[in-house]
Amino acid sequence: MSVLVIIEHDRGAIASGSLEALTAARTLSSDVIAAVCGGNDAVATACAGYGATEVVDLVHPFLHDYAPQAWGEAVAQLVTARQPDAVIACGTDRGNEVLAHVSVSLDVATVANVLRIDASSAGVWALTRVQWGGSLLEDVTLDAPTKLLTVAHHAYDMVPSEVAEYRTTFTPSLEGSLGSTMVRDRVVREAGVTLTTARVVVGGGRGVGSPEGFAPLEELASLLGGVVGCSRAVTNNGWRNHTDQVGQTGTRIAPDIYLACGISGAIQHWVGAMASKNILAINTDRDANMVTRADYAVIGDLHKVIPAISEEIRRRRG
Ligand code: FAD
Repeated sequence: MSVLVIIEHDRGAIASGSLEALTAARTLSSDVIAAVCGGNDAVATACAGYGATEVVDLVHPFLHDYAPQAWGEAVAQLVTARQPDAVIACGTDRGNEVLAHVSVSLDVATVANVLRIDASSAGVWALTRVQWGGSLLEDVTLDAPTKLLTVAHHAYDMVPSEVAEYRTTFTPSLEGSLGSTMVRDRVVREAGVTLTTARVVVGGGRGVGSPEGFAPLEELASLLGGVVGCSRAVTNNGWRNHTDQVGQTGTRIAPDIYLACGISGAIQHWVGAMASKNILAINTDRDANMVTRADYAVIGDLHKVIPAISEEIRRRRG
């Protein structure tokens, strides 16, 4: 059996998740092929240090920096050429994204975020994967001729296993349209308070009602030295950017206090908010999940409650 591992790296800095994926691959086979889009000396050395018996540099102008469709198609062509039994990536955003493109290109199913692999039956593998932000474990069987899967990040320890470095090159044929999404420029943001680091987060949900409805939340966040977050209902409505979203498919926060305003507390939101040290829910529905789970709750209209809190803060500060 041979296993091909998609290596995630950023201009030569290999992602720790790829070292986990290499370690996972070694539990299945001693024939481990590392696919490195763009090719890179430091990455090849790291792969050999984690047991890759062959490092394939995928070489094409589209592959110099991250380009999900191009990376996926390039790996798919390598899979067709080499016919490995399995293709593994780490279940990071990029790992899942690239493998999804491989899956579409090969028309073969993929299983994401796997915790456990039982390959004792060659044709049908038994897998356990994590779902819904960690709140559900699912047992899956995979009988595709080529097994495509991502291993959940941190599910496998990174265990070094030095082998001699052996490098080859593969040049895929990539159409111009595959270069439609690629990194062209990088901007370093000024350090400041972010959703992840904020000690106070004022979150707004569908109950806020409109983009303009967030102005009082912005004001309260500013008075408290915090930032504004939101639910997915808000980003789905286009009221705020996805960068503000708290939850399973957004940011996980851990402030001293989270003020959840007009947010029902669906499980996908809760998994992103539950590490908050204190939660104050403001909601018209006393039975809302967020209210029943919160440390404190105000049952009322957020459009009246939030300006009243800001007013009281200003009054006390003189
Ligand atoms: P609603 O559920 O509609 O709740 C609105 C709340 O506002 C209600 O409790 C209501 O009583 C209250 N309200 C209304 N008017 C007022 C008022 N004037 N004053 C006070 N309260 C008021 N959601 C996320 O948030 N983050 C995620 O990362 C996320 N990921 C998801 C991933 C998947 C795969 C799926 C399927 C869903 C995901 N969701 C996520 C969506 C999630 O299931 C909910 O649909 C979403 O969180 C609901 O947003 P909400 O609480 O703002 O809206």
